[in-house]
Amino acid sequence: MTAASSARQILTRLHEVMASRSQPQRKLDQVVEIIGDSLDSEVCSIYLLRDGALELFATRGLNPDAVHVTRLGVGEGLVGTIVANVETLNLAEAAAHPDFAYRPETGEDRFHSFAGVPIIYRERAVGALVVQHADPRRYEAVEIEALQTTAMVMSELIAHAGLVDEEQALVEDGGPRILPGLTLVKGLASGYAVFHQPRITIDQVVAEDIEAERQRVYRAFDKMREQIDTLGAQAEFRDGGEHEEVLETYKMFAYDEGWGRRINEAIDSGLTAEAAIERVQQHTRMRMRQIDDPLLADRMHDLEDLSNRLLRIVSGQLGTAATQGLRRDTILIARNLGPAELLEYDRRRLKGVVLQEGSLTAHVVIVARAMGVPVLGRCEGILRQVAEGDEILLDADKGAVTLRPSQAMGEVFDARFAKSRERQAQYATLRDVEPFTRCGTRIHVMINAGLRDDISTLAMTGADGVGLFRTEFQFLVSATLPARERQTRLYRDVLDAAGDKPVVFRTVDIGGDKAVPYLTSEALEREENPAMGWRALRLALDREGLLKAQARALLEASAGRQLNVMFPMVSEPWEFDAAKQVFDEQLAFMKVRRKQLPETIRYGAMLEVPALAEVLEQLVGRLSFLSVGTNDLTQFLFAADRANPKLAERYDWLSPAILRFLDRVAKGLVGSEIDLGICGEMGGRRLEALALLGIGYRRLSITPAAVGPIKELIRKVDLKELSTVMSEWLLRPPPSLRAALTEWCEARGIDTE
Ligand code: PEP
Ligand code: MG
Repeated sequence: MTAASSARQILTRLHEVMASRSQPQRKLDQVVEIIGDSLDSEVCSIYLLRDGALELFATRGLNPDAVHVTRLGVGEGLVGTIVANVETLNLAEAAAHPDFAYRPETGEDRFHSFAGVPIIYRERAVGALVVQHADPRRYEAVEIEALQTTAMVMSELIAHAGLVDEEQALVEDGGPRILPGLTLVKGLASGYAVFHQPRITIDQVVAEDIEAERQRVYRAFDKMREQIDTLGAQAEFRDGGEHEEVLETYKMFAYDEGWGRRINEAIDSGLTAEAAIERVQQHTRMRMRQIDDPLLADRMHDLEDLSNRLLRIVSGQLGTAATQGLRRDTILIARNLGPAELLEYDRRRLKGVVLQEGSLTAHVVIVARAMGVPVLGRCEGILRQVAEGDEILLDADKGAVTLRPSQAMGEVFDARFAKSRERQAQYATLRDVEPFTRCGTRIHVMINAGLRDDISTLAMTGADGVGLFRTEFQFLVSATLPARERQTRLYRDVLDAAGDKPVVFRTVDIGGDKAVPYLTSEALEREENPAMGWRALRLALDREGLLKAQARALLEASAGRQLNVMFPMVSEPWEFDAAKQVFDEQLAFMKVRRKQLPETIRYGAMLEVPALAEVLEQLVGRLSFLSVGTNDLTQFLFAADRANPKLAERYDWLSPAILRFLDRVAKGLVGSEIDLGICGEMGGRRLEALALLGIGYRRLSITPAAVGPIKELIRKVDLKELSTVMSEWLLRPPPSLRAALTEWCEARGIDTE
């Protein structure tokens, strides 16, 4: 008899039991008989989690009086170990295992061999299925597989019969857990876990028609391979900064014959397509747990992703959690996200984001910051440790996330939350206070924005204006190129909302990690280094129609007022001139048409490409202002991809290399008409902002949430003292500039966080 046909026989018998009208307990009693019989084992037992312990629910072969009496803690004895580690055990001599715990009431001392598998329900081990035998022999692989398949059927029974209280299962098996991560957007939030890529719950495990299930899997594989082949163009892969490597691994798995074959074998044994995919995945997960290899673990995530994708295809449940809509306060869980994907979520329900990957200056993080959503990144293991619907406390101030918190943890968190709100309220009192330093210099604190709603934070924070309006956000949220009229409307609304405060509009910065499929697919698909590729002004100058439309929209929206326009990624002066010329032409056209023109126009450039710094003097007289985009600038200075999570913490903004560069730029512009500022994320962090003030920067455009803290900081600073110490440090850098500056602050009672 083949492995598949024996497994199928077991499944057929189990199916009959499941379909019968018996009570759940009776069904369990029948299951242990069937398994014991089929695997030729004297003992077969089922342990399920109840009131915090694993209780013997049914047995054949052990003392029947032990049923509902024998209880083991999770992690206690072999059964407890299976559940705690979600692992399969297969032992010739049970008593030789270090975790063996003898329970006299069961009468199990006669049995030597032992095999057990976890019963998994909603991604958690909620019990164990165990067989024992008097002969000291290990069970064969096919027998273990039959056990694992039976355990899957058990989960169906558990679901339908309510044998394990769902809430209890979630809390008791999972228990509270704290995972560290990297703070990407500060803030506190609580809510319930929602996977960006929804997980599929399997309702039917046993197949009615095996051939039909096989066809379903074939079709799903075809579709998945098609998707993988075109994945390069998809936002999910582009925007999240995931590149070739992941794609290659996906391809390897998608075309891996072994994987397909194992799924087919599981179908042969009588499982539905969904159950077969999950069954194989569980098996792989267990095997991987035994291999302690971080490289393999990484690959394992890829296979998980793919397996989940296959499940979604086969069950027809496509789309992200955004398309399904959020129903309550949500903490979104994802491996990585693109900025456009994040923008699809309902801002009222989305309270926080936890990413397995992510880096500080990736655009998804900037978007989240604009949305006021705290983000924790590089949270190792989050995808494995959390289940959909788990309660989550996100503390992105401290850089940790608590899963399934206990009541006490919840109380501590609430207290912190209240404190943080208090601090926010304190900052709010600075709203109408102009940020002068102690020595009397007025610093201009502006906000970075990209959405219409962001402008309301101008009034809330009392910032001096919008120092960077990222116009591409409108393009990112749109399925098609936004028509000129729509652009005009947005810009006009923004100017109206800003009132008499200035707004600096940056022309579209598309490309890099901000892919827009309708614009960029042809070139970006093939780009090896999109951040250094055809993006921002480079793309806009080549797509003149795009820049023309935007120029007209900006000029028309600013009729009768001041227009501040800034070009991103200017690398050489001629690019600035070419972009300005597009505006000049539109202006001339409007004059002919007797349209109302802006009262004044100020043109600026972003300094993001180091090369521009070397030729800045050539732009004197043509440039009204220069804004340093430290996010891109530092990625180019250090040759470190801003979206690559592996490099997220490698280089410090407070490195002498960066600060000397910025210092040189500032010194070079002293006495010129060019108004200098910063608009990268760096300016919104207290220590970094201090360093910038210390080398002569007087205009910071930052994330709205940082305005309060930075204003408070400015009021404590004596610029003369600060610039003296900064020049010393730049001349002779201390071992750590960050440590030196922190010490300097502490000596003066200035908070560094
Ligand atoms: C920058 O690069 O610093 C910047 C402000 O632009 P963005 O983050 O949008 O690329
Ligand atoms: Mg930039």
